[in-house]
Amino acid sequence: MKTFEELGVSEDIRRAIAELGFEQPMPVQEATIPFLLQTNTDHSDLIALAQTGTGKTAAFGIPLIQSIDVTDRSTQAVVVAPTRELCLQIADDMRDFSKYIHGLNIVAVYGGTSIINQIHALKHGAQIIVATPGRLIDLKNRGCAKLENVKRIVLDEADEMLNMGFSESINEIFESLQEDHTTLLFSATMSREVEKVAKKYLRNY
Ligand code: AMP
Repeated sequence: MKTFEELGVSEDIRRAIAELGFEQPMPVQEATIPFLLQTNTDHSDLIALAQTGTGKTAAFGIPLIQSIDVTDRSTQAVVVAPTRELCLQIADDMRDFSKYIHGLNIVAVYGGTSIINQIHALKHGAQIIVATPGRLIDLKNRGCAKLENVKRIVLDEADEMLNMGFSESINEIFESLQEDHTTLLFSATMSREVEKVAKKYLRNY
């Protein structure tokens, strides 16, 4: 069993997660963190089959945070998740992990609520956006979510999003990203729909 330091997690993040009581990496974290930290600049995509409760949020959240250039205010990463509750949970967890990183702004946007405050929040600059698919497209079409500098996209609970009928929005999100991005797909199951998305949009996974 390796330590977070041995996996390459930065000191700022290690301090924050130690305060949360994380002593040792969970198995999915041990698998994904070094892989994602090493491949920051290359094109390797990742599929992780992990259920809620396995530590999956930190498995993608920690390397995502560590890859952000805080001197750049543009959106560099997006996490797409099926529900408002999950978006809020992911954003909260990532804020906890990045407590000691100054200048990092994480904004959650989701449907079923007024878009005005979300537009306002994005105007301040969000290096990481955590979003439900439909709302992200809406904000992109209004010119409020700018995805052209996004280097990493995470699909969390991908099977759930596809079951809920978000495949068109997910396609549209992928179409608006630059060529040079990395995709991390987290799913509880490897359904046929998930496989289809993987075949269409993931490379070298
Ligand atoms: P998740 O699967 O992301 O919903 O995480 C499940 C729970 O495990 C959350 O309450 C996390 O804060 C917690 N957790 C994640 N990673 C660790 C770790 N390495 N050590 C202890 N708890 C953790």
